Parts: sequence; C-alpha cells; structure tokens
Amino acid sequence: MVSEVMFCSLTYCGRPVRLADLMEEHQEELATIESIDSGAVYTLALKTHVGMSIQTFRYFAGWCDKIQGKTIPINQARPNRNLTFTKREPLGVCAIVIPWNYPLMMLAWKSAACLATGNTLVLKPAQVTPLTALKFAELSVKAGIPKGVINILPGSGGMVGQRLSDHPDIRKLGFTGSTPIGKQIMKSCALSNLKKVSLELGGKSPLIIFSDCDMDKAVRMGMGSVFFNKGENCIAAGRLFVEESIHDEFISRVVKEIKKMKIGDPLDRSTDHGPQNHRAHLEKLLEYCEMGVKEGAILLYGGKQVDRPGFFMEPTVFTDVEDHMFIAKEESFGPIMVVSKFKDGDVDGVLQRANDSEYGLASGVFTRDINKAMYVSERLEAGTVFINTYNKTDVASPFGGFKQSGFGKDLGEDALLEYLRTKSVTVEY
Ligand code: NAP
Repeated sequence: MVSEVMFCSLTYCGRPVRLADLMEEHQEELATIESIDSGAVYTLALKTHVGMSIQTFRYFAGWCDKIQGKTIPINQARPNRNLTFTKREPLGVCAIVIPWNYPLMMLAWKSAACLATGNTLVLKPAQVTPLTALKFAELSVKAGIPKGVINILPGSGGMVGQRLSDHPDIRKLGFTGSTPIGKQIMKSCALSNLKKVSLELGGKSPLIIFSDCDMDKAVRMGMGSVFFNKGENCIAAGRLFVEESIHDEFISRVVKEIKKMKIGDPLDRSTDHGPQNHRAHLEKLLEYCEMGVKEGAILLYGGKQVDRPGFFMEPTVFTDVEDHMFIAKEESFGPIMVVSKFKDGDVDGVLQRANDSEYGLASGVFTRDINKAMYVSERLEAGTVFINTYNKTDVASPFGGFKQSGFGKDLGEDALLEYLRTKSVTVEY
C-alpha cells in the first residue's frame, strides 16, 4: 500500500527532481565527505561519485511518469473478443546492500530506479563508508520524500545485511558486492520468502590491445582501466592482453606515465592517486602482489605500500603473467596492472583466453579496425564491451554482468524492470 501511495506522490510531485537539485546544491560537501570516507581523490569524487549520482536521480526522475504496460490481443479466433493488458506494479519494500568503492554512486544506481518505480527502500551501506548515505537521507527529508520511504540502516553485513536477506516482508534485494557474498544472499533470499534478487558482483575484465590501436589512447585509457579510483572499480581491467609486437613499447610508456602520477592527500586538488579504502584491503593487495611474485610473474613496477602515513599502495605493473596464475584469474580490486602477451594476429586465441574466466562483468578492445572490433565485441562474454574507450558508464546504458559477475541491470530503462512486477489483466467482451 505504501508503494502505491508513493508511486503517485513521486510521479506527480517532482520530489526526485528536488532531491537531485538538493544533491547538486550540496555537491561539494558530498564530495568532501566521500573523499574523506572512501579515499577517492576529491576531483574524482566530485565528478564521478557525486556527479554521476546526481545524473542518476535526474535520469530516473524522468521515468516516474512513464512506467507503462502493453495491450495484447488474445484468442482472436473465438466468438467473444478478448484482450489482455499488462500493468507494471511496484514490488513493495526493497532492500539494497552496497559496497564501499563508490558509496554514493552505488546508492544512487539502485535507489533511483527503486524509487522511480514506486517502491520504498531500506539501504545498508558498507560499514567502512556510511557517511554519504546518511547525508543523502538528510537531503531526502529536505526534498519532501515522506518518512519511511527511504531508510538508511548502517551496520555489518553479517547482522543487518543478513537480516534484510532473511526478512519475510521484503520483496526484493538489490546487491552490489563480491561474488561469494552474492551467492550467500541469493540462498537466504530464496529460503526466506523467495525474494526477487539482482546481483552486481565481482569481475576480472579483460582488455585486449591490438597493435593497430591508437597507441596514445590505448596507453591513457589502459592506465585508466586499471588505476581509476585507485583500482577500486568493479569494471577495472583485471587483465590486459597486449599484442606481442607492441607489448614492450606499451609497457614502457605505461611505466613512464605511472612515474608522473602524484600520490597523496585525496583532498588536494592536484592528487592523482589517493589511499586504498581501508587497512584490510591494502593488506590484501600486498598479499596479492606477493602471490604474483611467488608464481613467477615479473613485478615490473610498484608492489609495495607507499612510505607515508595512510593506506597508500604504489600503482603496480606485473608482466609475463601466465593463464594459470592466481593473479591472472582473481580480481585484485586495487591499482595492479596484470599484463599478458598474445601472438601477433591471433585474434581467436586471445578471445579464448579472455573468455576463460568465471567472471563476465566488462571487457574492452583497442584497434583501429572496426571489423575486428565488432568481431571481438560479439564474442566477448561480458555484460559490457568498450571499444576504443574504457570506464564509459552512462545513466542511460544498462550495466550488469554475465556468468558469476551476477545478473540484473543497474541504469538505463532495463533497471526499472528489476523493481517492478508485471500483472496481466484479461478481459472478455
Ligand atoms: P562484500 O564483502 O561482498 O560486501 C558488500 C556488502 O555486502 C557490504 O555492505 C557488506 O557489509 C555486505 N555483506 C557482507 N556479508 C553479508 C551477508 N551475509 N548478507 C548481506 N550482506 C552482507 O564486497 P566488498 O568487499 O564491500 O566490495 C568489493 C566487491 O564488490 C568486489 O568484488 C567488486 O568487484 C564488487 N563490486 C561490484 C560492482 C558491480 O557493479 N558489479 C560494483 C562495485 C563493487 P559490510 O559492511 O559488513 O562489509
């Protein structure tokens, strides 16, 4: 019932637009909080973490009054005429559980679609990054969203997250996080009351760089594919496959660029690379590097904690990474470039290696040959393929993984379906 009431108020009172306006008015404050809480450099926090969150609320606010069904003629051969029409209904109370890498943006990607479709929500932010979610709650009250529609519930995954998964009155759980926790949540949602679930999980996204690429762009975007948001990026290129004839040049140019990166205080506007999100994560990344060295990959650059207070990790490059190695298979979620060569011209061979993963979140290809780019994009097993670009997510483009990177979409029109149910009404006349 609350959902039906909300659907009307959100649709006709412009409150989601007001919420986006308020977020924009407070964007510098939100970016500062996000930067302090997550370690993202302020400039990125302002443009991406906060900027895209505002765009997401505006985009989904535009959908509020466009949630429609279909009319479907049925059984036309009978003497009586029949017609089915479908209605898209909200699900009711939805739970949302998010990680710590883009705290506000992950909140926005799910909450905006959930609210636009007329649901109410209970959101659990990550324990280590709850602050922008709490500021958002304050702004939602100012925007006139009625009490009880947006509920922010900080706490641990094992306690609050688990309780949301098990709760008998919650009809949907939207989750972003790791694959093991995603599986656990899906099991709990099934065993409790068969909640609808969408899962945006981990990735090990391949990026294939052919020798006929625009090298300047491939170096710049290849670096962004790994080091953006200090590697704490679910679509980060987890593995770069570089064609043999340009491999050495590519690597030496990447290392030259890394040396120019300014590592330091994330609130300083000139910083390129801030600290990792929290201590345990930094320690995990250092172990990941040790594992790479132990298995025989070449640690060409970095691999250590930066010698200054805070959880700073050197941007790192591994080369000569073989397919069986741990670092070739598992996500680091940090600033670690993992590079393998492939033989000149071996398009099908590199595709096979790129697809030999249980993950399928994103992927990329750099080449000037459009036929090759299309051939590769059709065969890459990933929910997103970037051609001659990377990290280009947009509020209008559906986003979500294949295989063990999960299912269901955030963003774009597709995201609305994650928070709706379809009712068929059949009339005989
Ligand atoms: P995580 O350990 O899976 O945690 C994600 C969220 O789940 C946190 O809020 C966590 O709570 C909560 N949680 C933990 N146990 C739970 C349980 N039993 N029931 C319900 N909730 C529970 O992931 P993370 O380390 O925060 O984030 C990194 C992972 O997220 C990476 O694998 C990354 O690729 C993935 N990710 C995916 C996307 C995507 O769109 N596909 C986007 C961003 C990140 P706590 O606060 O207690 O930790």
